[in-house]
Amino acid sequence: MTRLDAADPLPTLRGEFLVPPAPGGTHPEAAYFAGNSLGLQPRATAARVTEVLDDWGAHAVEGHFAVDRPWTRYHEPLRAPTARLVGALPHEVVVMNALTVNLHLLMASFYRPAGVRTRIVIEDAAFPSDSYAVAGQAALHGLDPAATVVRLRPRDGEDELRTEDVVAFLEREGATVALVLLGGVNYLTGQVMDMAAITAAGHRAGAVVGWDLAHAAGNVPLDLHDWDVDFAAWCTYKYLNGGPGAVAGAFVHERHARDTSVPRLAGWYGADLSVRFRMDPVLDPPPTADGWAVSNPSILSLAPVAVSLEIFDRVGLPALRAKSERLTGHLDALLAGVPGARVVTPEARGAQLSVRVPDAKAIVRRLAAEHGVVADAREPDIVRLAPVPLYSTFEDCDRAAAALAALL
Ligand SMILES: *Cc1c(COP(=O)(O)O)cnc(C)c1O
Repeated sequence: MTRLDAADPLPTLRGEFLVPPAPGGTHPEAAYFAGNSLGLQPRATAARVTEVLDDWGAHAVEGHFAVDRPWTRYHEPLRAPTARLVGALPHEVVVMNALTVNLHLLMASFYRPAGVRTRIVIEDAAFPSDSYAVAGQAALHGLDPAATVVRLRPRDGEDELRTEDVVAFLEREGATVALVLLGGVNYLTGQVMDMAAITAAGHRAGAVVGWDLAHAAGNVPLDLHDWDVDFAAWCTYKYLNGGPGAVAGAFVHERHARDTSVPRLAGWYGADLSVRFRMDPVLDPPPTADGWAVSNPSILSLAPVAVSLEIFDRVGLPALRAKSERLTGHLDALLAGVPGARVVTPEARGAQLSVRVPDAKAIVRRLAAEHGVVADAREPDIVRLAPVPLYSTFEDCDRAAAALAALL
C-alpha cells in the first residue's frame, strides 16, 4: 500500500478477494491487471457454492423448492442488483446462459432482415465470438455473411472508432441496416462507445440497436433503459467476478418485453414460475425479459454471481467508478513517462488501458515471470492492463509501470 492507497476515499476491498501469489519477482502477491478477462474470486464465494452442494446432498430434488435459496427462484434476487448495474428496470433483465448464447437468443428475436434492410453493423475490432455470431445469424437467414456484415474501422492512423463516423455511416447507409451490434467497451482498445448517441442514430436510421457489454458491465455506468437500447448481453466473469464460465446477463427493453408475440427461441424457463410446472404444451411468456429464458440455469455457477452482485450493491457503482478513474488516471500518468509504451486507449475509457509495445506476448510473459505483474497480450502489439477498483491498488499501478519501464 502506498500513500495514495491509504488516502483514497474508497478503501480497497482487496482483503475480500483471493489475490494469487506473484508468479515471479520479489513481491508476495500478484499485481493483477487481468480482471477484464477473469475477475478475482471473492472470499465469500466458496461458502455460497458449498451451500448449493449441501442443499443438493441433503435435499436432492426438493432443493428446487424447499431450501433457503430454492433453485427455481435462485436467479430472482439477482434481478434488482443486475438492473442497477446496467441502468435497467428490474423486469428488463435476466441472468441466464452465457454471453454469446444470449446474443444469439436476442438476435433470433431482434435481427429480422427484410427487403433491402439486411445488414449488421459491428466494429472491425469486434471480439471474434461476436464476429462469428453475427455471421452465423446472417447465414441462418440465407444471407451471405461477407455481404451482410459491415465492419466499421477507425480512420487511417487512428485507434479510436469515432462516434461521428458511426453516426455518419448510419445516416448515409442506414436504410440497409437491420441491426447495429457493437461492444459498449471495446475489448481491444478499451474505448467506451457513446452508447446513447449511437443508439439514437441507429433508431433514426430505422435499425435495431444491441450492445455487447462484456467489458462494460461492472466497469462503467450504463443507462440501458433511458438510452432506449433494444437489447444487450454481457458475461459475469470479467469485471463482475462471477468465476470462469459464470452465468451471463441479458437486457430486453420493456418496449419489446411487453410484446409477448415477439418470436423467440423458447424454452420452459421462459414460462412464469406460477405456471411453469403445469407443463402446458404452449408457452405464454411473461411480459418481461424472463420470457427469453430457455433452460434451468446452472445453480452452481449462479451462486458466485449472487455473491459478486452483493458486493457491487454494497459499494455502489458510482463509488467504484470514481475510484476506477483515479486508479486508471494514475496508471495512465505513469505510463506517459515510460519510453516505448504508447497508450492507445482514448479518453473515453473504463478501467482498461491498452498499451502498444513491440512483441506484446514476450512482454506479458516477462511482466509475470520477472515482476509478478499479471496482464494479457493481444497479438501482435497490445498489452492490456486493467486496474479493477475493487481489488487493484495504486501500488499495483506503480509496480506495472516500473516493470514496463524495466522491460522496454
Ligand atoms: C469476453 C467476451 C466474449 C466471450 O463470450 P462467451 O460467450 O462468454 O464465451 C464475447 N464477446 C466479447 C465482446 C467479449 O469481451
